Amino acid sequence: MGKGFFNVPVAINEPVKSYALGSPEREAVAKAYKTMFNSKTEVPMYINGKAIKTGNTRTMSPPHDHQHIVGEYHLAEQSHVDEAISTALEARKSWSQLPWEQRAGIFLKAAELIAGPYRAKINAATMIAQSKTVHQAEIDAACELIDFLRFNVQFMTDIYHEQPESTSDAWNRLEYRPLEGFTYAVTPFNFTAIAANLPACMAMMGNVVVWKPSDSQIFSAKVIMDVFKEAGVPDGVINVVFGDPVMITNTVMASPDFSGLHFTGSTFIFKELWKQIGNNIHNYKTYPRIVGETGGKDFIIAHKSANAKQVATSISRGAFEFQGQKCSAASRAYVPSNLWPEVKASVVEDVKSFKMGSPEDMGNFITAVIHEGSFDKLAKYLDAAKSDADAEIIVGGGYDKSKGYFIEPTVIVTSNPKYTTMCTELFGPVITIYVYDENAYTETLKLVDQTSEYALTGAILSTDRYAIQEATNILQNAAGNFYINDKPTGAVVGQQPFGGARASGTNDKAGSALNLLRWVSPRMIKETFVTPTDYRYPFLGE
Ligand code: NAD
Repeated sequence: MGKGFFNVPVAINEPVKSYALGSPEREAVAKAYKTMFNSKTEVPMYINGKAIKTGNTRTMSPPHDHQHIVGEYHLAEQSHVDEAISTALEARKSWSQLPWEQRAGIFLKAAELIAGPYRAKINAATMIAQSKTVHQAEIDAACELIDFLRFNVQFMTDIYHEQPESTSDAWNRLEYRPLEGFTYAVTPFNFTAIAANLPACMAMMGNVVVWKPSDSQIFSAKVIMDVFKEAGVPDGVINVVFGDPVMITNTVMASPDFSGLHFTGSTFIFKELWKQIGNNIHNYKTYPRIVGETGGKDFIIAHKSANAKQVATSISRGAFEFQGQKCSAASRAYVPSNLWPEVKASVVEDVKSFKMGSPEDMGNFITAVIHEGSFDKLAKYLDAAKSDADAEIIVGGGYDKSKGYFIEPTVIVTSNPKYTTMCTELFGPVITIYVYDENAYTETLKLVDQTSEYALTGAILSTDRYAIQEATNILQNAAGNFYINDKPTGAVVGQQPFGGARASGTNDKAGSALNLLRWVSPRMIKETFVTPTDYRYPFLGE
């Protein structure tokens, strides 16, 4: 703190634009999409603020048009990762000493750049790279990212305000130091906002970062790097490297200065990374902080008192937006027998009305899944459901990868509450429904709790308060984000801090002060005003 106790702008959620026909935002994003889709973007790595081109490249293609090339990115050798680490450590000398208001200024500027001049570009890049509809891109790449940046600045100052009591003869001060060493951000394909937030929030707290984005998100990661640069993130503070995740991770984790992992992605990879950190623990100068938000098998349970149309809409919206590729997407539902005929009719009608195709056609609700690996895995589960005696596909089930990786939104009904797709995270537009005896509510709640290793999100729909209370109790540990009479998706920064427990992650709640606290190591400073000069305490008196 320099020369004043500065207030930061009060964070307010960025309003979601409508993209209605004829709106200026629709025109702007359509234009940006066309330009970016029809040109070739070269994405270098950024180390110490310099664009690094290795000549060893990989092409980038939209999931909905996989033969079309929109550019290429450069891959790291081990020497580039070493350079990213040493440059980060060098940058730390100045960055960690910079007053917080200077760091805040940079990230508040980044938020405004995305809200204004970069909005169409970051949304179009997300539509192309991750095959998001314009609405999904807007709530992710624009609004959620803006919210992360603005709210985190506010949370940072809230943290700095937390100070211990002092007395007239001793002043106690807590200094929220950045971690000693450098941090490592490993980010998933599915949210541009998460990709940006993981490195940005650590940097905001004074840390330096090596960032490895997902191969499938690099096209939109380029826009993030452009924004960081224009906002004034100094050279070396956030260094981005692409390529072999194993080589990059091995190099990062071999460094004695590695001090924190901020990961979002699948559970298996996170557990492997945790294990690797454990195996190296004797080599580190400090205990690395480990934060990981991972998979989910998110549920909807309806009580017999629920409104069938509301249950159906929660399923249709909760399971299929962005092709179910949200960690929070509903992928198992428990519907009581009395509501099932009406819920079934509504869900089937909804799903049949979804239009599927490229996000460039803004009338499409469903677009492609991220890559061939995901497509093939989903197709395998759909084929199995077609032949398994305890499963029935009531709508969808088709797939086609001739042009893009298109999987039809699919509803499986199973008579086996432990059927494979009730337990396994598929990460696609597939929900499995188990119809339970309307009088077996309590047993079904226990089943919901015990069916999956995950505990990310879940929802109860009911008009009966006792039933809501019972679900809230029995499902206490089954979800880190629990929704009453809503779908289990759509967490908003500053309103519903996000994260789950059990196999779903460390539950450090992205978009809250709880997360930022993981990236500081407080130093307690006690200053005594009149220092004693005689060791003898009064009780020693003769
Ligand atoms: P992923 O695990 O395949 O990849 C995540 C990141 O890990 C990528 O950058 C990838 O390159 C990297 N990676 C892959 N293998 C690695 C290795 N051996 N060593 C080091 N890094 C490696 O996940 P994804 O497909 O990008 O994202 C989908 C997953 O993320 C789903 O499981 C989803 O539930 C989860 N997710 C969770 C949250 C949450 O908040 N809980 C949010 C978004 C996504």
